[in-house]
Amino acid sequence: MYGRTRRYYRRQRRREEIRGYLRTFVWVLTVICILVVAVAMAVQTNTSKVVAAEIQEVPISTDEAKLLDVASVMTKGSGRAALTAVENAKAEVNRVIVIDPGHGGMDGGCGFAGVLEKDINREIADKVADKLQARGYRVVLARKADELMDKADRIEEANRLNARLYVSIHQNSYKDNSVSGIETWYDESDETGAAKRLATLIQQEVIKATGGVDRGLASDPEMCVTSKSKMPSCLIETGFLSNEAERKKLETNEYQDQLAEGIANAIDLYLHPATVYLV
Ligand code: ZN
Repeated sequence: MYGRTRRYYRRQRRREEIRGYLRTFVWVLTVICILVVAVAMAVQTNTSKVVAAEIQEVPISTDEAKLLDVASVMTKGSGRAALTAVENAKAEVNRVIVIDPGHGGMDGGCGFAGVLEKDINREIADKVADKLQARGYRVVLARKADELMDKADRIEEANRLNARLYVSIHQNSYKDNSVSGIETWYDESDETGAAKRLATLIQQEVIKATGGVDRGLASDPEMCVTSKSKMPSCLIETGFLSNEAERKKLETNEYQDQLAEGIANAIDLYLHPATVYLV
C-alpha cells in the first residue's frame, strides 16, 4: 500500500511539472506571437511612411510638378477669360441697334404725288424695329416722332449710346423717272471692312426679300451717317419715289414689310455670322 502511494504521488508531481512546463510554454509562445505581430506592424507602418514620403516628394522634384503648376495657373486663367467672355457677350447683347428714319418734321426729304420720303422712311423703320425686337434685339429709333432733327445729332446720340449698328433708311429720286431700284451706301474709308460687310448684307437680303432692282453698293466718305458714326453703319435707299410704279409699291404695307424683313435678316446675319453657313 505504501509503495503504491509513493508511486501515486510521484506521478502526481510529474503531471504537475508537465502542466507547469506547458503553461510556461504557452505563455512564451503567446509573448513571441505578440512580439512578432508588433514587429510586423511596425515594419509595415515604416514602409507606408516611406511610400507616402516618396509619393509626396517625387512630383515636387520633377518637371511634371512644374507642368502641373503651370496647368493649374492656366486653368485659373482660362476660367477668368471665360468669365470675361461671358460678361462681354452680355454687354454686347445689351447694346442697342439704332434705326434711323431719314428726315422728319419740316424736312420731308423728297416728295412726289403727295408722298413724302420722311413718312415712308418712318413706316419702314418702325417695321424693322418691330422685327428686330421680336428677334430679341434692343432697338432705338433715331427719331421718335415726326420731328426735325439734325443728322449729326442722331449720329452723336448713337455714339453716346455705344450702339452696335446704325442703319439709316431713305428714299431716292431722280429727274429720269424711269430709274428705279435699291442701293446701299457705306464709308469705303472704313479700314475694318465692317461697314462694307453690313452694307453688302443689307443690299443682298433686301433684294432677296423684295425682288427689287439691284443698284448695288455706293460709297461717299462725306456722307454724315456713314463717316461720323463710331459703329458699323450704312444708309439704304429703298426705292425711287420719282418712279411711279416703285412709289406705289413703297406705299403698301406688304412691300414695306418685305423691305423691313430684308433689313432685319441682314442685321441678324451680320451679328450672327455662323447662321450664314447654317442657312
Ligand atoms: Zn433722304
